Amino acid sequence: MSRHLGDEFVLPTLTPNNTPYFTSGSIQIQFCEDCGHAQHPPDDICYACQGTKLVFAPCPGTGRIESAAIVHHPSHPALKSQVPYVIAIVSVDGAPGCNVQGNVVGCPPEAVEIGQKVRAVFEGAREKASGRELLIPQWELAREA
Ligand SMILES: [Zn+2]
Repeated sequence: MSRHLGDEFVLPTLTPNNTPYFTSGSIQIQFCEDCGHAQHPPDDICYACQGTKLVFAPCPGTGRIESAAIVHHPSHPALKSQVPYVIAIVSVDGAPGCNVQGNVVGCPPEAVEIGQKVRAVFEGAREKASGRELLIPQWELAREA
């Protein structure tokens, strides 16, 4: 499966803090073992208590669209044939206060609305330099049961 924004578009640069999110194939959110605070993006300290006992935990992989924009202007040459596409801010179920950013895939851009429930899907990609495999979280509209 090719990536939603094309296989030539830039990949995230992996760091120790973001590697779980971009490689695990699940929605990994950082939690503080001292106070329970959930935070994203991950960091070396807890933003609530300044503790440093931080762990990653998988969330259910569902969420809600809090904001969305349809991109019409290709901000990178690799995106010329990919527009229009949707960038959304998704609040993550199981991680109070945590929002993540991603594309909404598998539907026309105009079908995306604030308040819709979404489900994570993962796009495989390989870093050319390191050969590391990434599983990039994206979102699709959750079908009503
Ligand atoms: Zn804390």
